[in-house]
Amino acid sequence: MTYDKNNIFAKILRGEIPCKKVYENEYVLSFYDINPQKKIHILVIPKAEYTDLDDFTSRASEKEISELIKGITTVAKKLGISINGGEGYRALSNIGLNGGQEVPHLHFHLFGGEKIGRMVS
Ligand code: AMP
Repeated sequence: MTYDKNNIFAKILRGEIPCKKVYENEYVLSFYDINPQKKIHILVIPKAEYTDLDDFTSRASEKEISELIKGITTVAKKLGISINGGEGYRALSNIGLNGGQEVPHLHFHLFGGEKIGRMVS
């Protein structure tokens, strides 16, 4: 899939649309989901243009890959939901049509602050 530069997260990254920022570094941006499904619902996205996890792992550098994974745990710690100091959370990425992905820029959802429940309903 070609990357759509007009997707909503691309606009957030360019500063054209506001977001409620949680964390940012050279590689990742994290912000609150606009339509939270759990008490805490955060998104973590790479700053570079990748449509989904498959696209990311096939084109991203080792540094980008490790920074995204580390970004997830950094954000979890910052929010107090990590295993160390919190009670855990779920990190999830929807991929493509069957995965239910709506925004075509790779993102991980972080759900926490309460029991998240069944893996798939
Ligand atoms: P997905 O279905 O995995 O593609 O998830 C896309 C997520 O992006 C949904 O949970 C939406 O609520 C969220 N979302 C869409 N637009 C925005 C926005 N402007 N700011 C924050 N989150 C958004």
